Amino acid sequence: MRRKLAAGNWKMNGTAAALPELQSLATSYPDASVDVLICPPATLLHRAAEAVKDTGITVGGQDCHAAESGAHTGDVSALMLVDAGASAVILGHSERREDHGEQNEDVCAKARSAMDAGLKAIICVGESLEQREAANTLDIIGGQMSGSIPDQSTGENLVVAYEPIWAIGTGKVPTLDEIGEVHDFIRARLERRFGEGVGRSVRLLYGGSVKPGNAAEIFAVSNVDGALVGGASLKAKDFSGIIDAL
Ligand code: 13P
Repeated sequence: MRRKLAAGNWKMNGTAAALPELQSLATSYPDASVDVLICPPATLLHRAAEAVKDTGITVGGQDCHAAESGAHTGDVSALMLVDAGASAVILGHSERREDHGEQNEDVCAKARSAMDAGLKAIICVGESLEQREAANTLDIIGGQMSGSIPDQSTGENLVVAYEPIWAIGTGKVPTLDEIGEVHDFIRARLERRFGEGVGRSVRLLYGGSVKPGNAAEIFAVSNVDGALVGGASLKAKDFSGIIDAL
């Protein structure tokens, strides 16, 4: 049985003033029956890790560099995330691919580094509206998976997040059939590449306008093992509603 996972991506939101939200979440989930992960900005990571210590919640990064250390001004390595208290890192988010020109090979190199450092890599894939309308969704996702997911992946160190770009922050969500089609496709590809054992143990998250009001029906879709949540992860009340739907 795959353990359910609710992951919150705070993106570039949050200063120390946001820590009470995290503390409030930690109080509600001292020992959650599902995995709860919050990925705050790097500046808050250490304080966030302290705030959720000894609770059912863990924290993660939103990106890392592929190298362990060196002359890369402004970047953060996987080892640094671990040092700050992270257990996971989101990689290849469409906002990174768009804002920083990250290609599949870059995401794959970062994922290798993250896995080597002992982090879970949450690798994001997803199509644009144009690609969906041109009926290219599965081709795009297949290509992103082949290029971004490293060979060393296992059910322990890999999570795949399906985030249709047009559903992020828009209030638009694919139909449940559309979500199911993509998640079944991702599962089949993982099983083909890594074998049934590993392929079946990797958790698949849906992301894009998940809210307390639509979470339960999305979580009922086959091969949806949880969610990667942006806006609705910023407030403990909203995120709790999503966790409860798991
Ligand atoms: P929203 O939940 O705000 O649509 O963002 C989804 C997302 O990009 C999570 O990584």
